[in-house]
Amino acid sequence: MLNALTIDVEEYFHPNGMDDAVSPEQWDDLPHRVESTTHHVLDLLDEHHVHATFFVLGWVAERWPRLVRQIAGRGHEIACHGYAHRLVYKLGPARFWADVGRAKGVIEDCLGAPVWGFRSPSYSIVSNTLWALDILIDYGFRYDSSIFPIRHDLYGIPGFHRFPVRLRSAAGEITEIPPSTVRLWGRNWPVAGGGYFRLFPYWVTRQSIRRINQRDGWPAMVYLHPWELDHDQPRLPAKATSRFRQYTNLRQTEPRLRRLLREFRFAPICEVMQAVPKTLITHIIRPTTQCHHRCTDVNQWFNETISP
Ligand SMILES: [Zn+2]
Repeated sequence: MLNALTIDVEEYFHPNGMDDAVSPEQWDDLPHRVESTTHHVLDLLDEHHVHATFFVLGWVAERWPRLVRQIAGRGHEIACHGYAHRLVYKLGPARFWADVGRAKGVIEDCLGAPVWGFRSPSYSIVSNTLWALDILIDYGFRYDSSIFPIRHDLYGIPGFHRFPVRLRSAAGEITEIPPSTVRLWGRNWPVAGGGYFRLFPYWVTRQSIRRINQRDGWPAMVYLHPWELDHDQPRLPAKATSRFRQYTNLRQTEPRLRRLLREFRFAPICEVMQAVPKTLITHIIRPTTQCHHRCTDVNQWFNETISP
């Protein structure tokens, strides 16, 4: 089975766990590593003849447009990770609309082509920011990968669909593609990416992907960041939990990723979705009261689309 490999292209100071340690005004003055770390990922993928989806941050695309073109030129899919890595639930609809519009414009200018996929920073489309999907539909995105169906202190909608689902609102339709989880002991557990990939032993990821492929019959979706392969990255004075999440087992990422690329088949989201049955469940959102951004009533939407 073909699984989806996704890379969020951002600097080591962009994760929201670092928000208290560094402000966006300081970003330009910090040492920049995204160009070299992304090239490192690209070389590694070339070595294994694997293509992936790269969710590029608008801030990065604005400063390194050549990097975006190089990623695309090496056969990967380019998608959008927002502009300034702000949490959707802190931005609100108007600022989210502006952030996404700026990012999409910058990235598409780099490529001279449209982008179809979106992933919010820190999976911050949660139950009270589902209006964000309407904004993404308005911008013409075809898929979103921002809803993590788990319980977490920063993100997640526990009980949301674990596998791709079509969502229809007054604004139009979009496919939601959640990051992989395994269902165990009545709960969804995150297993295939980022901190979880570094914190758990490798066999947990391997067994989980096998279980998702064989038992659930779906492709898995793995996500990583170029900074996760950069064990020499500057250490920032963030709080203990964020430092733990960001710096634990950085040296393990590369050997584990190499193993993963040898043991499973991966492709960009656009390619994986072509292989998925076209009979995806579509959830219809009844026309309801809307704000000026055409956001549908969140509670009604949520009640209708949450899986039993
Ligand atoms: Zn990110």
